[in-house]
Amino acid sequence: MGTGYENKKEGAEMTCLFCKGDMVPGTTSHVAQLDKCIIIIKNVPCMKCTQCGEVVYSGKVVEKLEQLADAMENTLTEVAIINFPTEAA
Ligand SMILES: [Zn+2]
Repeated sequence: MGTGYENKKEGAEMTCLFCKGDMVPGTTSHVAQLDKCIIIIKNVPCMKCTQCGEVVYSGKVVEKLEQLADAMENTLTEVAIINFPTEAA
């Protein structure tokens, strides 16, 4: 979060914080480890580095991931695999 960031549109050019490689839009699987269970959220929209594979989520996506984790926390399932709701992307 530096200053001088203009309103970047989706798909705007981004470089990796680690290797300065190109970041391209894609999807990934996010694994959230809670006290009692593990949640695997598939098809999470992200920006992915073409060089080192580093993945960056937008603030909106992070928020949704937290909501999903909260919602799943009370299930009795030890491992839950869900799809990221596409309307939230
Ligand atoms: Zn990289």
